[in-house]
Amino acid sequence: MEAREKIVIVGGGFAGLQLAKTLNNRSKKVIIIDKVNHHMFQPLFYQVACGRIEPSNISFPFRKIFQRSRNVQYRMTEVQRILPEQNKIITEDAEFTYDKLVIATGCKTNFFGNDKMERLAFGMKNTQEAIAIRNHVLLTFEKLIIERKRSDDGNWNIVIVGSGPTGVELAGAFSEMKREILPRDYPHMNFDHLNIILVSSTEAPLSNMSTESQRMSEKYLQELGVDFMSGERVTDYDGDRVFLASGKEIPANNVIWAAGVTGNVIEGLKEEQVLRNRYVVDRFNRVKGTGNIFAVGDIAYMETPRYPQGHPQVANVAINQGRNLAKNMIRNSETEWKPYEYEDRGSMATIGKHRAVVDLPKFKFQGFFAWYFWMFLHLMLILSVRNKLAVFFNWMWSYVNKDSSLRLIILPNKKNTTEQ
Ligand SMILES: Cc1cc2nc3c(=O)[nH]c(=O)nc-3n(C[C@H](O)[C@H](O)[C@H](O)COP(=O)(O)OP(=O)(O)OC[C@H]3O[C@@H](n4cnc5c(N)ncnc54)[C@H](O)[C@@H]3O)c2cc1C
Repeated sequence: MEAREKIVIVGGGFAGLQLAKTLNNRSKKVIIIDKVNHHMFQPLFYQVACGRIEPSNISFPFRKIFQRSRNVQYRMTEVQRILPEQNKIITEDAEFTYDKLVIATGCKTNFFGNDKMERLAFGMKNTQEAIAIRNHVLLTFEKLIIERKRSDDGNWNIVIVGSGPTGVELAGAFSEMKREILPRDYPHMNFDHLNIILVSSTEAPLSNMSTESQRMSEKYLQELGVDFMSGERVTDYDGDRVFLASGKEIPANNVIWAAGVTGNVIEGLKEEQVLRNRYVVDRFNRVKGTGNIFAVGDIAYMETPRYPQGHPQVANVAINQGRNLAKNMIRNSETEWKPYEYEDRGSMATIGKHRAVVDLPKFKFQGFFAWYFWMFLHLMLILSVRNKLAVFFNWMWSYVNKDSSLRLIILPNKKNTTEQ
């Protein structure tokens, strides 16, 4: 009997997970490797950072997802090197052979080589980082109240760098927290001096969306009291002050960096197979110059006539590339393989309660209806009925009470000997 083809997938994000799910219970042996034990729904990280939802509501253990699978296995380890000549990958604690390898490692925060920024500011690319932001922001208030520090020295300002959807959504959510939640939790503190500052190198927020959405999101930010600093570039941060290219300085000990991402490239492939930290792939997601190595999602760079500069790094592309590749792998012969084509279904962002912007291919709308649309779509995309219900319940609770009870500060146990 012919041995089953062994497909190793590195990364269980939107692309890798969709690929594995489409290959589930098919005649392939699938091993999905991820350095964390759960799939993460990144679009809602900002709500974890602001204490609106529990991390477990948007994190799904791989072992649970594939509990009943006949052919998909999960391994928790970090892949460090690819040995393409030997059809092998090296991880931090083992080696795996493969017939076909799929790289779906996504991106990490890009601090553009600024080590100090990387050390002192927060990124938001995984669950731990979202929890770290929540801890740090809440600890700021706990410390201030004990130290009885003046609140108008600006030190507790929250600065968010980058005005894409992540930056805008965070700014809106922190602003709502400042207005509705913090004064009730800390009745002896005056939050008038807490500034939520969104620094953007572009003139308008959400520069990848329509002009209507940009205009409305700026208006919403203004209504929520967010200080939007446009046309400004952050050059440095010393833990107390953010420095701008214009010479301005902003006092802040909470800085969140949402100004860019870069691919998680694994060592081992040739230089010409990587462009701007993404693997160069053909229309079938096969890495240039290889026969059995593929890349999908954020880490893949695919040029097509409609996308000559590669696809946007968004969930929709990742999910559909994962699905397309899986369907191709199931087909009997490579001559039947279908090239990937991106169908842009639009984009959206929410800035606060009843304030969202939606750009669909033929239709744009903002405000109250857009906010419900955003909530509905995100609920549909979250895995598992239990998590959908939990998120829905938390949202409804905050909607009615203008509050949530998820502001736990969870710090690692000091006795923990494993490095974080
Ligand atoms: C805060 C935030 C908000 C976002 N909001 C939206 C949104 O509203 N709409 C939208 O369309 N997109 C959004 N995105 C982008 C979207 O999340 C990405 O496009 C999508 O996650 C890409 O999927 P992926 O599978 O390529 O990578 P990812 O989902 O990033 O998954 C990569 C996986 O690989 C694992 N991994 C990485 N390196 C290794 C290694 N060496 N060994 C083992 N495992 C490894 C990681 O642990 C991770 O699980 C957002 C992103 C962020 C960070």
